[in-house]
Amino acid sequence: MSEYRVSVDLEACDGIFACLVRDGRFSEAEDGLVTLPDSDRGDGELVATFDDEKRADAEQAAAACPVDAIEVTEAEP
Ligand code: SF4
Repeated sequence: MSEYRVSVDLEACDGIFACLVRDGRFSEAEDGLVTLPDSDRGDGELVATFDDEKRADAEQAAAACPVDAIEVTEAEP
């Protein structure tokens, strides 16, 4: 299992929430856009790093996002 990074382009995110049903870690923030647990938000981007077995869920959320706002990549060492 390796660490992975999930980022969301908040400029692109449209609050459609197709991601929520694919990965329960995504939820609605107070401003109507998406958020993730233990994430950093700044500069129009939401970033969280995980080390668990749920990478496939995050990838499904990314695939479901109609505006391609979610990216799942290897975490930088
Ligand atoms: S599916 Fe995409 S546009 Fe919709 S809330 Fe999730 S990240 Fe934002």
